[in-house]
Amino acid sequence: MSRDIQDYPVQYVKGIGPKRAKLLARLGINTLSDAIFYLPFRYEDRRITQKIADVRYNTFQAVTGRVIASELKETPRGKMKIYELVITDGSAVLTGKWFNQPYMKKVFKVGDRVVLSGTVKRNSYWGVGYEMHSPEYEIIEDNDTENIHSSRIVPIYRCISGLSTRTLRSIMYNLVNFASQQLQEYMPEDILRRYNLPDIREAVLNVHFPNGDVEVELLNRGDSPYHHRLAFDELFFLQAGLAALKKKMTREKGISFDAGGTLIRELLQDLPFTLTDAQKRVIEEILSDMRRPYPMNRLLQGDVGSGKTIVAVVAMLQAVESGFQTAIMAPTEILAEQHYLNIHSFIESLGLRCELLTGSRKERPLDEIASGKVDIVIGTHALLQEGVEFKNLGLIIIDEQHRFGVLQRAALRKKGMNPDVLVMTATPIPRTLSLTLYGDLDYSVIDEMPPNRRPVVTKLFRHNQRELLYKIIRSELKKGRQVYIVYPTIEESEKLRLRSAVSEKEEIEKIFPEFRVGLIHGRMKPSERDDTMRAFKAKEIDILVCTTVIEVGVDVPNASVMVIEHAERFGLAQLHQLRGRVGRGPYQSYCFLVAYGRLTEEARKRLEVMVKYNDGFRIAEEDFRIRGPGELFGTRQSGMPDLRVADLLRHTKILSMARQEAFRIVDEDEQIKRWPALKRMIERFWRGKIEIFRTS
Ligand code: ADP
Ligand code: MG
Repeated sequence: MSRDIQDYPVQYVKGIGPKRAKLLARLGINTLSDAIFYLPFRYEDRRITQKIADVRYNTFQAVTGRVIASELKETPRGKMKIYELVITDGSAVLTGKWFNQPYMKKVFKVGDRVVLSGTVKRNSYWGVGYEMHSPEYEIIEDNDTENIHSSRIVPIYRCISGLSTRTLRSIMYNLVNFASQQLQEYMPEDILRRYNLPDIREAVLNVHFPNGDVEVELLNRGDSPYHHRLAFDELFFLQAGLAALKKKMTREKGISFDAGGTLIRELLQDLPFTLTDAQKRVIEEILSDMRRPYPMNRLLQGDVGSGKTIVAVVAMLQAVESGFQTAIMAPTEILAEQHYLNIHSFIESLGLRCELLTGSRKERPLDEIASGKVDIVIGTHALLQEGVEFKNLGLIIIDEQHRFGVLQRAALRKKGMNPDVLVMTATPIPRTLSLTLYGDLDYSVIDEMPPNRRPVVTKLFRHNQRELLYKIIRSELKKGRQVYIVYPTIEESEKLRLRSAVSEKEEIEKIFPEFRVGLIHGRMKPSERDDTMRAFKAKEIDILVCTTVIEVGVDVPNASVMVIEHAERFGLAQLHQLRGRVGRGPYQSYCFLVAYGRLTEEARKRLEVMVKYNDGFRIAEEDFRIRGPGELFGTRQSGMPDLRVADLLRHTKILSMARQEAFRIVDEDEQIKRWPALKRMIERFWRGKIEIFRTS
């Protein structure tokens, strides 16, 4: 089997050898492909030399000069060792300083020509004179025959000890040249022309060693045409894989749910509200998918409180009336229970049977599920375990909260079932990310809230502002409203430091003696929890002290205050979910975030976002910005291939271009027979993750 040039081990490239290969491996560079994607983190324009006399204070600059003196000094009481390096270019002198790095004195000798890059500071003692603290440095040798270290835009790579900037640059030059000589263009020419993208050889060479036709700023922002080409390729491979998965699915035989809709009509007649236009639209999209004779794979997105549950119930009724069972799968037991409580109430009156199935629940109506007596099963992943058999499972609804990606969905289908699948996300995610995580799915969005919702007013409290907080709570209670007070679920070891639901309940009772206080936490029996929840719903309890048990699904329109204790410990998605528990009725509602201690930068940003925005999409965007895409919705968990150049936040336009082209190519030619080299690249990209094409 011939090996792709991308997989060629760098060790065998002339001039590398095992010793250097070992060092490179520490940087994650094992193959030529790794080298191609090991991009400079910065570029430095060394075509024009910056005179030391002309540098500006407090800006990042690079200067070149000869070493005229160097010395290792000690501060008076020997507290700190400072290595000072003085260089000049004839116009002025500049001092580089390194603190407590005595080994630096071995690096330079007088007479060396060096480049120092860093922020220029004033000498703190004299008030004049240029200094840089721990600058990046490079010794320029005069035998730069290839002209790769000076007189050009020079790439700066992240180094490790044992491998100097300069040596690594030479190695990269070698590798990149070798790679670009061997590479063959695989992308169809018309695509490259349409988006003005450079040839792959040109892109690889220039992204590392720019030929000077692109502004340094563009390179530094990762926005040169050469960066764009590499980003385009990654996103194209990703989307082509998704396109192929999707296409494969449409050829599979699925169920045509062709019931007349009697159950749905009955349900809607008894509904205490009318559906929003957005709900009607997505219901129509889902039902028309379900009627078709191939499996539905659809994503339903909608902000907290936008009314996804009723849409799910409608889909389930269509399946049940067509003679099939349906299951709804939640990521945790608590969420499954919440769904059960919600959905149960809709289903009961229609004379259907609905059961809860979770790992810890003792009663397991497996026989009734297997015999088809149960119409709707609500549960966790336990649903998919061995021993759980359905008579005829036709529709699966996954309420996934981003814990269930492309690959897991594919695994689910592989279990031999071929049901319709509807994925619901409780927290909306940015469109670009959903095109990646859910790029194989059709897409429906509820982009409208039920009428008469007032935005929740959110306010941040420090824990010492408790008096004020209690005053506001009391005034709401006096108006007849109800209040949630949520505490984080805590570990045994943290008990002393943090306020917890169990220990705080009595405290709250003392503060509000005239009101009734209830308690719900994760270690209570589900039946006890349900009882308390029902009492709260029935307004027999005024203040519900609880853990995040109530995160999703709970619906008590009379509750108007959500207090979140230790708000700094929650993630944005969770805070938004919790806040979504209020503002469900006609009353003005409040969310009070109570924060303790010194906040980390990230925690502070999160809380600010909550105070500022109500819109879930907006919050998701901000979350994305704060934490980066990998963290946020677990691209890592979902096992998706890594993106090394493409940035889902910045490269949104490239993503939509790549998606359009990839879907077009796969649509015209499912096995991509016309472009074998391109097909190999796509397979390489997805290798070890999932089989994209039927045969290969
Ligand atoms: P989510 O999308 O967060 O799952 P839910 O389905 O729990 O939202 O709905 C939130 C609340 O809004 C529930 O009380 C539900 O009964 C109510 N609701 C849903 N659709 C409408 C509508 N069209 N008009 C008024 N209230 C609605
Ligand atoms: Mg819901």
